[in-house]
Amino acid sequence: MNYSQNCNSQSNLTEEYPLTDLLIGGTEINYLFICPTKLWYFSHGITMEEENEWVDLGKFLHERRYGNEEKEVQIGSIKIDFIRKGDTIEVHEVKLGKSIERAHEMQALYYLYYLKRLGIGAKAVLHYPKLNETKEISLDGHEEEVETAIREIQRVKSLPTPPEPVKSKKCKKCAYYELCWV
Ligand code: SF4
Repeated sequence: MNYSQNCNSQSNLTEEYPLTDLLIGGTEINYLFICPTKLWYFSHGITMEEENEWVDLGKFLHERRYGNEEKEVQIGSIKIDFIRKGDTIEVHEVKLGKSIERAHEMQALYYLYYLKRLGIGAKAVLHYPKLNETKEISLDGHEEEVETAIREIQRVKSLPTPPEPVKSKKCKKCAYYELCWV
């Protein structure tokens, strides 16, 4: 994805988007890196996920393996799968795919960025139960990436029509398939 046209601004994002106006959820960050067309549909209230069998399967697997953890934690516009508190606050996200994706890492980085804006230092852990792997994420050195992504989300959301769909292997499991390709 080419963000170059949006990377020129050196303005202070904290002033540009006070936290109270930063109404971006983790799903939107995730979708930006999966497919901007998907982001546009979702951010315009077109939600078809409930009809998608892949999402239902994901919810079932999540409940079965992580059922004992504290349930989703909502903080402002972000919803975290579960939080563990030790020496550091840990934000945990469970991903049910078979690969570690940039979209997952950026979603976790956004959560850490959002918490930092609230004055909360944390690290994130991504869980991949199907791979039996975890990945730790730290915000250090990634703040500009998150801010660039936030600007890109604002740009995509402001478009009057969805960005042209680009067919990829992700389309097959996407809830919006029929809107794009049928
Ligand atoms: S079907 Fe493909 S192009 Fe359309 S929103 Fe989904 S991932 Fe994007």
